[in-house]
Amino acid sequence: MPKFSASLHSKLPRVGTTIFSKMSALAAAENAVNLSQGFPDFDCSPKLIELVYHYMKTANNQYAPMPGIMALRERIAQKTYDLYSGQYDPETEITITAGATQAIFTAIAATINEEDEVIIFTPAYDCYEPAIEIVGGKPVYIELKAPDYHINWEEVKKVINQRTKMIIINTPHNPTGSIMNGQDLMQLEKLTDKSDILVLSDEVYEHILFDGYEHQSVARFPKLASRSFIISSFGKTYHTTGWKIGYCLAPKALMAEFRKTHQYNVFSVNTPIQMAYADFLADQDAYLKLRHFYQEKRDLFKSLVEGSRFITMHTAGSYFQLLGYEKISDEPDVDFAVRLTKEYKLASIPVSVFYNRKTDNKVLRFCFAKQNETLMQAAEIINRV
Ligand code: PMP
Ligand code: GLN
Repeated sequence: MPKFSASLHSKLPRVGTTIFSKMSALAAAENAVNLSQGFPDFDCSPKLIELVYHYMKTANNQYAPMPGIMALRERIAQKTYDLYSGQYDPETEITITAGATQAIFTAIAATINEEDEVIIFTPAYDCYEPAIEIVGGKPVYIELKAPDYHINWEEVKKVINQRTKMIIINTPHNPTGSIMNGQDLMQLEKLTDKSDILVLSDEVYEHILFDGYEHQSVARFPKLASRSFIISSFGKTYHTTGWKIGYCLAPKALMAEFRKTHQYNVFSVNTPIQMAYADFLADQDAYLKLRHFYQEKRDLFKSLVEGSRFITMHTAGSYFQLLGYEKISDEPDVDFAVRLTKEYKLASIPVSVFYNRKTDNKVLRFCFAKQNETLMQAAEIINRV
């Protein structure tokens, strides 16, 4: 291919390849145990696969309706009501998306104008910032402090001004595993009351909370929900990250704007998988028992590494465990993560990449959505470091 020689003014000059692609590629190249990118190394339910196959065989292979298959939207509305008492009309207030990533991008693209400010809490999941920047918005960063990574609402109050258009929250939180409590959500409700500020609530780990904690969905707080996009993903709930189906909940007026962008972004997403999820959602146990399944893994992994030289931090939700290595090395976390992969054959994610200022607390993120044997292999390495 001849080289592209015209001048190209990049819209995202600081953006390279995501850390998830990089670390998973390095893990594969080094034949390392891969606890970096967040995905299970075990399969989803065979029943779910059968359902998809059934819908494929029965000629459900053409475009789904633009907002998604109605049966699936109805089930989501029911689940949201049952769990959080949140009322969403499947006709006008729920849209099925190509994973949470597309929902997040679409919500931002549909509402953020040039120079609008969007508050994000760092360390932040990596798709928020580029979505804001590509539409000309300005990310405003608030750093969460280790080790509890809790939001200081006084700090938030200080940065809110006339240009603040959106606040993005994420609970349970990737990469730290912290969760927001009812007080946090009430503070956010109070702070945004009578303003035009929108809230984007990334709740993809809504079913993965430990030690009996309840997920504080924005859907539980009607006033807050009236200005919010709530986003979730079936990838996390059903061990199907590769299927890339998620959804967005929002009040009618916000959803109308969301759909204007959605219809020209993807139009609609995979029909047979939506139909299969609609059936599968009837089984409440499949998502309600997920927390126990992952708590066992969190506890196993933690107990196996507790005697190591790493510092184990607390995971209240999500499927990530942070481990501090300050007693082992003073290398930058990116270098240490690469060395751990190459020399010890264990891949993780350095947490500094989730900060705009690349704050390095000497902490790595390990994904425990893995078979117990994988976790044991990883722990054996961690104990040798
Ligand atoms: N938000 C968070 C916090 C995530 O961890 C992820 C994926 N791990 C996503 C959004 C994206 O979800 P999806 O794969 O459904 O696009
Ligand atoms: N969300 C997953 C993680 O945090 C990765 C998703 C991706 O690879 N883009 O590891």
